[in-house]
Amino acid sequence: MINFNVPPFTGKEMEYMRKAVENEKICGDGEFTGKCSRWIEERTGTAKSLLTTSCTHALEMAALLADIKEGDEVIMPSYTFVSTADAFVLRGATAVFVDIRKETMNIDENLIEAAITDKTKAIAVVHYAGVGCEMDKIMDIARRYGLIVVEDAAQGIMASYKGKPLGTIGDFGCFSFHETKNYSMGEGGALLIRDNKYVERAEIYREKGTDRSKFFRGQVDKYRWVNFGSSYLPSDMNAAYLYAQLEMADEINDIRLARWNRYYENLKPLQDAGKIELPVIPEGCVHNGHMFYIKAKDLEERTELIRFLKENGILSVFHYVPLHTAPAGIKFGRFHGEDKYTTRESDRILRLPMFYKLTEEEVEYISGKVKEFYGA
Ligand SMILES: *Cc1c(COP(=O)(O)O)cnc(C)c1O
Repeated sequence: MINFNVPPFTGKEMEYMRKAVENEKICGDGEFTGKCSRWIEERTGTAKSLLTTSCTHALEMAALLADIKEGDEVIMPSYTFVSTADAFVLRGATAVFVDIRKETMNIDENLIEAAITDKTKAIAVVHYAGVGCEMDKIMDIARRYGLIVVEDAAQGIMASYKGKPLGTIGDFGCFSFHETKNYSMGEGGALLIRDNKYVERAEIYREKGTDRSKFFRGQVDKYRWVNFGSSYLPSDMNAAYLYAQLEMADEINDIRLARWNRYYENLKPLQDAGKIELPVIPEGCVHNGHMFYIKAKDLEERTELIRFLKENGILSVFHYVPLHTAPAGIKFGRFHGEDKYTTRESDRILRLPMFYKLTEEEVEYISGKVKEFYGA
């Protein structure tokens, strides 16, 4: 059976986790947390990166930093994971969903402006499959209306838009290191902060509302409760696991891209024959091979294909139930404009196995079975 996902593992994880234990500092902000944060800062050029317990928590921190309050509105795609909306809804905001672009499944930047009201406070974009949204246009809208931009870059580490790393373009960027992502620590994430003016507040939110980060740097002689906050810092053991992969980030990225390209070449004839559609990487976008998906004709054909692949030992999956059609989405959000692509395209999308240890032979086998299904 070929799994849909296998968590990344490079071989150094155990050694680094042992080191974290031997350091006798397995709580947050130890040696490996520092190493991971510095790696992210150096690789992306962001002013500050804070490791978190998840991307969901990084998004929650972004919502706090953006001062999202009861009655505010946040514009986002409906085709996304629940956390994009949860973080803002938790602060009392309404999620205002707009449609996506068919080719990338990213928010359609041309529909954002019409959804803005006096209550709009932020735009939350999702770089689906590690392919950048049209950030030039989005940042221009945000500037003109004074809106905060939060990038849900859960899938976007190592990818870029016009030379800028995803997660560093908006005010806040959020990475995920969940086991299904390109680099993992089991559960974990990072908040990227573009402007230093937010750093002190961010550190306080992350450390239960205390100025403990300042205390550790020797900037204050005792730490106190200075604001509301929560606990968003991961154990150093988890960070140690992640660091083993960040050290090999290029190698992992190269392998994923090689598998992605192989899928693409193998399945291109099916697209040329009009049987399926393949992902589009717009000019100016460099992706990270996070996901390989195809689009079937419709829901029925996709269901058949999933069954056929499963019979042949291949696990393929689909996702997201559009948020505006889900119970919480109906309660906490509304769809602005027409749902032209969100529901239709989410019914057609199918994700094929994609992970670091996936072999070239497996990609050949899976591609062959997809072709067989389509009689090619
Ligand atoms: C994975 C993912 C998340 C959630 O990440 P966690 O680290 O599990 O909280 C949020 N948004 C998107 C788009 C994701 O793919």
